[in-house]
Amino acid sequence: MKYCSSSIIAFLFILTSATLLSGQEGPPIDSLKAILKENLTQDSLADINLGIGKSYRSQGMPDSAMYYLRQSIQLYEAGDQREEVVNAYEQLLRTMSNSDQPFEASVALSDTVITKAEEIDDAKTLTQAYLIRGIIFDDMNQREKAFKALNKSLEYLSRLEQKRTAVAIYNAMANLYTDGVDWEKSQEYYLKALYIADTSGWKLGKSVILNNIADNYLDVDRYDEAEQYFKESIAIKRSLGNETNLSVSLCQIAYLYSETDKLNLAFSHAREGLQLAQKNSYHNGMTICYTTIAGLHGKGGNQDQRINYAMKGVELMTQMNAPLNSSLLDNYEHLYQAYLSKNNYEQAFKYLELYSNARDSIVSMENEAKIDELELSFQLKEAEMKNALLAEQQKQAQLKLQRRQFLFFLMISIFAILGLITAWWVWQKNKLNAELDNLVKEKTATLQKTIEDLEKANEELTHFSYITSHDLKEPLRSINGFVTLLRRELGKDLSNDATDLMQNIQRFVRQMNRLIEDVMSFSLISKKKPHYHSISLADVVEEVKGSLSAKLDKSNAEINLQNDLELNSSRTHLVLILSNLCKNAIHYNKSEMPTVDIAAAENGQFWKIQVKDNGIGIAPQYQEQIFVMFKRLHSRSEYDGTGLGLPITKKLIEQLGGHITVESQEDKGSTFTVFLPKQDN
Ligand code: ADP
Repeated sequence: MKYCSSSIIAFLFILTSATLLSGQEGPPIDSLKAILKENLTQDSLADINLGIGKSYRSQGMPDSAMYYLRQSIQLYEAGDQREEVVNAYEQLLRTMSNSDQPFEASVALSDTVITKAEEIDDAKTLTQAYLIRGIIFDDMNQREKAFKALNKSLEYLSRLEQKRTAVAIYNAMANLYTDGVDWEKSQEYYLKALYIADTSGWKLGKSVILNNIADNYLDVDRYDEAEQYFKESIAIKRSLGNETNLSVSLCQIAYLYSETDKLNLAFSHAREGLQLAQKNSYHNGMTICYTTIAGLHGKGGNQDQRINYAMKGVELMTQMNAPLNSSLLDNYEHLYQAYLSKNNYEQAFKYLELYSNARDSIVSMENEAKIDELELSFQLKEAEMKNALLAEQQKQAQLKLQRRQFLFFLMISIFAILGLITAWWVWQKNKLNAELDNLVKEKTATLQKTIEDLEKANEELTHFSYITSHDLKEPLRSINGFVTLLRRELGKDLSNDATDLMQNIQRFVRQMNRLIEDVMSFSLISKKKPHYHSISLADVVEEVKGSLSAKLDKSNAEINLQNDLELNSSRTHLVLILSNLCKNAIHYNKSEMPTVDIAAAENGQFWKIQVKDNGIGIAPQYQEQIFVMFKRLHSRSEYDGTGLGLPITKKLIEQLGGHITVESQEDKGSTFTVFLPKQDN
């Protein structure tokens, strides 16, 4: 691809020209300089300097332009006019990128412009600065950086309504894919640019894009399409009278004609192109045309002219201090080929050497650029990975934090709920406790009252029983006394029947007396509080025997203690219990010799005392009833008694916390067993 770089430079020129055409071109430089001498304010001075700078640039004098533009920047900065500073910087960047300054200087300047423009959020300048930066990177063969910059430019452009800049950006993007990188893609971007230029009616822009499309067809040897596009581009440029750009197009179509062996056409176009470039002192156009014409002479076999034009090209490029490019390489090739044809080996060798050195430099420049690209893409990838890792870490940390927060809130909620439940539970418990306390108090009070009432009633009853029995016994004693007196008074006059009757009266009185005594002792049992102490059963039995001695003698009965036992109990109670049981054992007995056997043993938590007799026994159906008050199994004529002996015994045993059982067989005898709980000493 021979004209790529040049066409971009040309395009930049068009862009700047277009800006000037849109009304930014100032008055002539001389009149401006004259104003400078006048007494001016700092702001006006800055404006004038800017105007002069722009004018110099439009006249293709970048060095002078840059001087005045820098002056204006300084003045604007001193006045802190930030927008004007950015604008002047943009002008400076446009100029520098179109000058002989090294690419690196323009890249550095673009950094400054971008920073300044970002500070005031100037989308228009940012779009332009990134566009220029993209084009410079493309010229430096750093495609990836160029693509990034152009994309940035597009990004800022989306905030503006600038069709022409869009055309420029798409054109620059297309340029990235030319030179055999990706023809389809370059074509796609060119067509986009062409469409925008066409629909927005921007003729100059359209002509440039048409030219570039033609160039792109030329690159893949599609000469017909290339010719068609060149022609269209040339027609527009002619109609616009844009001679500088026309010069380049004419030389490019000339090259096409030379490739398709239309030498005459080629020469006429190339000569016209060179003429226009020279007329306008357009150095870029001139170098392209010199190279093309040299090539045409080469084809035509005119080696002297070939050398002549190739030398002009080389000289101009040296004069322009242009960077190494394919045009220079072509010229060296022409020179070496021409001298070779002329058998001038010395010169041929010289230019072959220059050619190969230049080619090596270009190749190594390309390689360096490629290495730079690779390094950059590696750095980008690394940065991307780092970012992804960081993002992932942040995500994880966020998740962790969220999880922790969730757990924290969950715990807080659980604690809060537990706290509430506990508080409610405590409150409820306290409430229930209070209610229970009240209830207990109430019940205790009621119970206490009942107990008190009962005790009072019992007291009264005991008192009543005592009084009653005492009062009842009083008339009985009198009856007995009077009967005794009556018997004594009547003496021998009493008939036997009357004596019997009187004896009966006295017997009933005794019986009544016993009944009253038994009732009384029953009712007084509750008054008998047991006093526990260690006692010997043998002692108790001896006392019983003593109290029953008359009855024992009369009945010819005997009481035997099988074994002694030491126990902790109430002696009074035990004497009464055993007396009652022994009395019954002898009383309800028809044997010749009533015998009572007393045996004692420990039985678990109890002391077991058995009273066994050889008496009349008790029928099974009555064995329960005998402990009921006043229950008697026999008539008084048969066996006298009150029916209170066993109930009294039972009550005494219960007062000691024990119980009584009976086992009996009629006519064989009975065994009463008393269980008394063991008491601690
Ligand atoms: P009582 O004072 O009339 O003897 P108890 O309450 O002592 O009354 O006895 C109730 C009844 O149990 C007696 O009438 C008697 O029939 C019967 N009974 C009591 N002990 C014996 C016994 N050891 N053998 C046979 N019957 C008995």
